[in-house]
Amino acid sequence: MRLLGSSRLLPLCIAVLWLAPSADAWGCKGHEVVALVAEQHLDPHAKAVAFGILGDWPANGNLPRYCHATGDPLADASTWADDERQVRPETAAWHYIDLPRGAPEADLAKYCPPPEGCILSALTEQLRILRDASTAPAARADALRFVIHFVGDIHQPLHTITNNDLGGNCVPVTFFGQRPEESAIRRGSFHPNLHSIWDTDILERMSPGQSPSDVAKDLETKFRSRISRWQAQPAAFAAWAWESHELAERVAYGQLPHPIPIERPRRVTTCAEVAGPMLRLDENLAEPYQNAAAPVVDEQLAKGGARLAALLNSLWP
Ligand SMILES: [Zn+2]
Repeated sequence: MRLLGSSRLLPLCIAVLWLAPSADAWGCKGHEVVALVAEQHLDPHAKAVAFGILGDWPANGNLPRYCHATGDPLADASTWADDERQVRPETAAWHYIDLPRGAPEADLAKYCPPPEGCILSALTEQLRILRDASTAPAARADALRFVIHFVGDIHQPLHTITNNDLGGNCVPVTFFGQRPEESAIRRGSFHPNLHSIWDTDILERMSPGQSPSDVAKDLETKFRSRISRWQAQPAAFAAWAWESHELAERVAYGQLPHPIPIERPRRVTTCAEVAGPMLRLDENLAEPYQNAAAPVVDEQLAKGGARLAALLNSLWP
């Protein structure tokens, strides 16, 4: 999930949108899985309230939607924020937090500067809007769509880390033989890259041909006992972000065949500024990397769904 203030140019679905228009984009499948896992754990009242808000106040019908409609209100709502960003660029920074590799945990707030904020401030603010009964109903519905999406994004490890590489978006990778190709639109941006494979390719390779609903059912079975434990924990956005950050460090960067040194943080706004040295890294990822990443993707999707359900249940007891 395209995660997360520096300007992150290619967060989640949008990167895939213009880099590989035919790809099924925490792309569409990842976000929908999180929503569908959550739906299984919503209390009846919370589910009725959430479905009522989404049904009574649908998203702007003129907004082009990248992901195909699933017919499930929560799953369809889960991918809206990536489309909304195209018409409201001020929301781009809400999808991630740029925690530099090597940053101490105590410093999280430092990486969420106003006015743009980050995923932590966005979750807090959208929850406030959602709780406020005096807010216009359409704005509450949008707040619910944002919350559903951001709980997914915060569990995508690459939405909580950066190494002067826009959350891995500027790290070209070869993935199972697919060589990175430069975007015809944006110089220095390559696909696949480290961020994009965590958004879509690793999950798709884990579940070829499976629908989001199939994947959600499998996760239910695999994580049944742990889902209830995750739900019992209090919602702590900073702790969730840090957990994702550590996974990104340990697995997403840590398992690369050619270790990438931790960079001294500096402001990077486009991949063109760093792509030359990044391309020379020649990261060639296949089974060993996939085998290390897959359990993380599985658990983060299940955890995101469980935590989203607990959050919505607490809003509408
Ligand atoms: Zn996003």
